[in-house]
Amino acid sequence: MGDSFLPLALPVFDEQELEEIKEVLASGWITTGPKARQLEQEIAAFVGAKHAVAVSSCTAAMHLALEAVGVREGDEVIVPTMTFAATGNVVVHLGARPVLVDVLPDTLTVDPDAIARLGPGPRTRAIIPVHYAGHACEMAALLDLAKRRGLHVIEDAAHALPAAHDGRRIGAPLPAGLAASAVCFSFYATKNLTTGEGGMICTEDDALAERVRVMSLHGISKDAWKRYAADGSWYYEVLSPGFKYNLPDLLAAVGLAQLRKLPAFQERRRAIVRRYSAAFAPLDMLECPVERAGVDHAWHLYVLRLRTDRLKISREQFVSELRARGIGTSVHFIPLHVHPFYRDTYGYKPEDLPVAWDAYRRMASLPLYPGMTDADVDRVVDAVTEIALRNRVPQGIRVG
Ligand SMILES: *Cc1c(COP(=O)(O)O)cnc(C)c1O
Repeated sequence: MGDSFLPLALPVFDEQELEEIKEVLASGWITTGPKARQLEQEIAAFVGAKHAVAVSSCTAAMHLALEAVGVREGDEVIVPTMTFAATGNVVVHLGARPVLVDVLPDTLTVDPDAIARLGPGPRTRAIIPVHYAGHACEMAALLDLAKRRGLHVIEDAAHALPAAHDGRRIGAPLPAGLAASAVCFSFYATKNLTTGEGGMICTEDDALAERVRVMSLHGISKDAWKRYAADGSWYYEVLSPGFKYNLPDLLAAVGLAQLRKLPAFQERRRAIVRRYSAAFAPLDMLECPVERAGVDHAWHLYVLRLRTDRLKISREQFVSELRARGIGTSVHFIPLHVHPFYRDTYGYKPEDLPVAWDAYRRMASLPLYPGMTDADVDRVVDAVTEIALRNRVPQGIRVG
């Protein structure tokens, strides 16, 4: 077609990131230091959290948060199956079992009733709600359940900077009476705010914040990095065998520049989503993503679902038709319970979690990033519309 390839996601950088990086290089201090501390303060202020601890990824953030609330060998943690590998893997890393649950058919966020039906057992310690695609979970129901059962809530907010629910930004304080809880953000290359690799743990709990800070850098006593600075001392103590999960200043600096542009990024994401949904809503063989009342969606992903009963082609064919037109797509996500490790270790069958299994086979994420031009958006709209109309099952002889 002569058009260049349009990727699913692309970070947007300008002179501001370069200036921040130059400052770090010139300072001679490139690992965790003042820029990481500044990013912690700015993210804490932005979401309204008491504490923010910068780490090397959201995976590290969730691992540290679960460790800090005391998840240990033999425990159970509730995890929605519709998520990325990291959400389940970190539970396994602690010797605990991820108990996978199904999601709501409209938002694909964890189904609170499915958790209630499961009846958390005596070893269940925590829930990891995933704000899927940037849509907040049904937090009122989840928090009510967590409060009654004394469960910790460790939010996977990898997609949810910035998202809000009932006027409360994800990362802001949760209602009182909850066990120590935390919110984990990702600054991975494709996320709404990126440092290449990076993450942040936000919490109101002083002890949790202190524990993750110590465990993020070898379990060495507080502010160990200061030992190299002029006012530091050579002395340090290992309090616990911690991890190497700190965020270097070289990367944190990129985050500072990105955060200043985040409101504009979000405005552009919303405009693209409005254009997509206006074009696809009239097509009965396509299902657009939803934004429930009271939710302020972060629009990290635009996940389209095909009404395969009204189409002559499968999701695979739909994806390859888009690829033939130079348009990148992806699938978010292959549910955890159908991956060989989770399937074989815990004995899941695909139909055990039917909502996620059905959604998975019909979904495709379309390109969505603030650097897309109107022409890029039109190109996706035209391609999707043309493929859908050309492959529609004629009225009256629908199969499926
Ligand atoms: C990207 C992602 C993660 C992992 O984030 P990293 O910063 O790469 O560790 C976790 N959960 C979900 C839902 C994600 O999409």
